Amino acid sequence: MINYTDHIVRLMADVIARVPDLTYIDLSRVLVFARLGRSDAEGAYATCHALGLPSSEPSYYFWRDRRTGQMTRRSEWFVTKSPMVEVGSSRIDYLISFCLPRFCDQTLARAQKEHVYSGAAPWVAKLDTIVHELYHVDPSMQGIRKLPLGRGRVSTRTHSPQFFRDVARLVKQYLACRPDPALTQFLTHDFVELNARFGRVTGAAFRHFPSFPQRYIEVLSDHPVDVEPGVRVEQVKPPGVPTRYTAADLAVREFSKKTSRRVKQAA
Ligand SMILES: [Zn+2]
Repeated sequence: MINYTDHIVRLMADVIARVPDLTYIDLSRVLVFARLGRSDAEGAYATCHALGLPSSEPSYYFWRDRRTGQMTRRSEWFVTKSPMVEVGSSRIDYLISFCLPRFCDQTLARAQKEHVYSGAAPWVAKLDTIVHELYHVDPSMQGIRKLPLGRGRVSTRTHSPQFFRDVARLVKQYLACRPDPALTQFLTHDFVELNARFGRVTGAAFRHFPSFPQRYIEVLSDHPVDVEPGVRVEQVKPPGVPTRYTAADLAVREFSKKTSRRVKQAA
């Protein structure tokens, strides 16, 4: 059995230790988990989710009469909040998810990264994705990295040509350190090879799979302003998922080509 997300975390720790531009990352505040993503389907290889963002401004949904433009009903006031995720004594500020088996089957050609890493081994595409997600962690450890526009302004975009160039530079810096091949070896295998070699491919996931901690709506009992007196106020549905997570909400899952299932842990 190979626990794929554990291998990713070990490699991330080494990358952060060796690449000066990434040493600001506190890996104890980052949680890596696996999602299901088929290799024969389009989609992301990985995603960085920031949890440390403040609550939104109070807001509400509303409906208008198409003809008169009059508000006919509105929802209760609410804010959106980030869930609290704590593992042991660590408060988690970032979740980084990897789509298995799609991530395992990534190659330079498949990810269209050949021109960036000409002559490199195909698995470097996976290292590029890992560094890419780490680089989304903002140096302030709050939110997704803000991209400078010049003159002190920042872009609302999360990717730019410079972002991709920076990631490639960091990947090359790391490889130039000649990392221990034992740390990167798991990246050299595609999903079929991993299964043949290790029997099973597992990873950390949330118990409420496929759901994972995401921003949720919290109803405000105190309405900041009465919007339009006399308009019907609809209730907002409370979130159907937890808003607080601990290590007890994590479980190991086994991934196959098209599905995944919970791995029974020995007591
Ligand atoms: Zn990205």
